Amino acid sequence: MQVRLFVEEALSDGGSVGATSEQAHYLRSVLRLSAGAEIWLFNGRDGEWRATIDGIGKGWASLALIGQTRPQRSPPDIWLLFAPIKRARIDFLLQKSVELGATRLMPVITERTNVERVKPERLRANAIEAAEQCERLEVPEIDAPQKLDRLLDGWDPNRRIFACFEAGPDVSAFADILSKSGAYGEKCHNAGILVGPEGGFSNAELEILRQKPFVSPVGLGPRILRAETAAVAALSIWQALAGDWGGRPYGRGK
Ligand code: SAH
Repeated sequence: MQVRLFVEEALSDGGSVGATSEQAHYLRSVLRLSAGAEIWLFNGRDGEWRATIDGIGKGWASLALIGQTRPQRSPPDIWLLFAPIKRARIDFLLQKSVELGATRLMPVITERTNVERVKPERLRANAIEAAEQCERLEVPEIDAPQKLDRLLDGWDPNRRIFACFEAGPDVSAFADILSKSGAYGEKCHNAGILVGPEGGFSNAELEILRQKPFVSPVGLGPRILRAETAAVAALSIWQALAGDWGGRPYGRGK
């Protein structure tokens, strides 16, 4: 598989960028690549680039850009609002959400959230790794955790939130909304998906959510899903009906 690395620096014709010491270690000691090897780079702004290693040593590597392989493009804009869960499962949730194209990840503190300590740096490292692996051209933004009521108070009502409730309406209601254009923009192209914590939303939270005009409750079948499963399921439905699942893998010019 082609090695792809996320870098912070600008990517442009004739340029060269430096790898971080972790990346240099990965290229040199894990992959055992040496000068002349070709890799791909992206930074979330300038598309994807072919590069060769033009110098490498302990803790450093210099990467010379050869040419752009894909231009930057904006994916369908779907945010995931999730109540933080335990470490291994939050890692899973994060990785799968990146693969499924979530463009912004928003940890939400609810009444029954039992893991309040999320480390945004760790989540970001995890998101970068998933983006490198799944050939995305951007790494989703990751917010600092915020309380549900605060988040709802500041919410842009033009972005509909699909709130996953165990007792939510049949999935065809979700499909109906997604296939309509109109008040919420073409096929709800700016949307958010909200999943609750392990203990579920409290009754008060369900009530508040139901009262918001920009929230649509959605149900995901008769079984109770783990939060991470619910996130994967809802993102998949959204991508299939309103997102980019109609597309093929992005072509690369040589
Ligand atoms: N309320 C349950 C479990 C919560 S599951 C309990 O008492 O333990 C965690 C989250 O996953 C829920 O808050 C909800 O957002 C989502 N979820 C789980 N199963 C679901 C289903 N069948 N339909 C929609 N959302 C679901």
